[in-house]
Amino acid sequence: MHEYSIASEIVSNVLDAVEKNSAKKVLSVRLEIGELALLNVEQVVHWVQALFKGTMAEGAEVKVKTIKAIVQCQSCGYKGRNIPDSRDIDQHYAAFICPKCGSPEVKIEKGRECMLRKIQAVR
Ligand SMILES: [Zn+2]
Repeated sequence: MHEYSIASEIVSNVLDAVEKNSAKKVLSVRLEIGELALLNVEQVVHWVQALFKGTMAEGAEVKVKTIKAIVQCQSCGYKGRNIPDSRDIDQHYAAFICPKCGSPEVKIEKGRECMLRKIQAVR
């Protein structure tokens, strides 16, 4: 149910924002989800739409942009893509090895986020 809790957080952020801006109806929202966020994107969208029901965001379009992961090596400074097999991602992040120097000291710079990027609403 990880997706559900993420979705309810997104939904409350959306509703907060529309309230602050005294909007009347939400037309669409845009989310950015990193490819390493370990989220089932379809499930997130499903729950967001389900939780929008009965609010002023009911029926709003939910767009998702996938953010590609970027890793940075702490040893040699290599920065780029080095994504392990998706099977390995769940296990642990030890699967990240720098392709340049082989160091396991690799930090994930980007790709684990899940955020609300944009809300389109009418007043
Ligand atoms: Zn390196």
